[in-house]
Amino acid sequence: MHPARILTKAGLPFVPAALLLLPVLAPAPGETQEPGEFERQRRTMVRDQIVATGIEDTATIRAMSVVPRHEFVPARYRGEAYADHPVPIGYGQTISQPYIVAFMTEVLRPRAGMKVLEVGTGSGYQAAVLAEIGLEVYTIEIFRALADAARDRLRRLRYGSAEVRHGDGFFGWPEEAPFDAIIVTAAAGFIPPPLLEQLKPGGRLVIPVGSVYGVQNLVLVDKGEDGKPRTRTLLPVRFVPLLRGLR
Ligand code: SAH
Repeated sequence: MHPARILTKAGLPFVPAALLLLPVLAPAPGETQEPGEFERQRRTMVRDQIVATGIEDTATIRAMSVVPRHEFVPARYRGEAYADHPVPIGYGQTISQPYIVAFMTEVLRPRAGMKVLEVGTGSGYQAAVLAEIGLEVYTIEIFRALADAARDRLRRLRYGSAEVRHGDGFFGWPEEAPFDAIIVTAAAGFIPPPLLEQLKPGGRLVIPVGSVYGVQNLVLVDKGEDGKPRTRTLLPVRFVPLLRGLR
């Protein structure tokens, strides 16, 4: 019989003292866990959430197998870093679910040497995945505190080649345009025209479009070599809103 099923005279479950000690002996999430434990969780994440769900791009799969996602979440959420959901990163923002990061990365058809603009740096995780593949990354974040933290983190983890700017990504990064790819990781009511302008002919832009609390769809814009954009809806998603006005 399972120990917890044994009832004491008082009718309370009998729990052996050794079991009561377990929470004390177990490491606090994130703080004292072995690096090997995160590696194991990352392998499981890639197998169950990335490969099993149909992501096929080998560069994307490899990058997600390497980037230490637990370094991009606040210490108290480290235990959830590899779980199949978004995780809070402060200021009401979140690091996207692993599958969504992989899906958006794959959709860009990432290749080493491509120049990519990200709007919505957040934790810097998506930027690190793109940098790991070998892309030249420019990323913009509207919260100064998040931008500064992401810049430090990316440097510490040797993804310092990714350039982080504090600014409103609605306007893109004109000094570095045009880009081979643009990825927006916050939901907009419409595609910001400056981003379309800053996309190279033949380039791809992926962005969640829709209302803040209602339906949003991940939209892919393929800019033809003739400069004409072709738009496709890929899948329903739920993102934090694209904000306006620096914070
Ligand atoms: N890509 C991030 C997660 C994005 S969450 C990661 O990998 O962790 C969306 C982010 O977009 C938030 O950090 C939010 O502050 C930022 N954001 C919202 N509106 C923005 C804007 N207009 N310009 C730049 N960043 C913006």
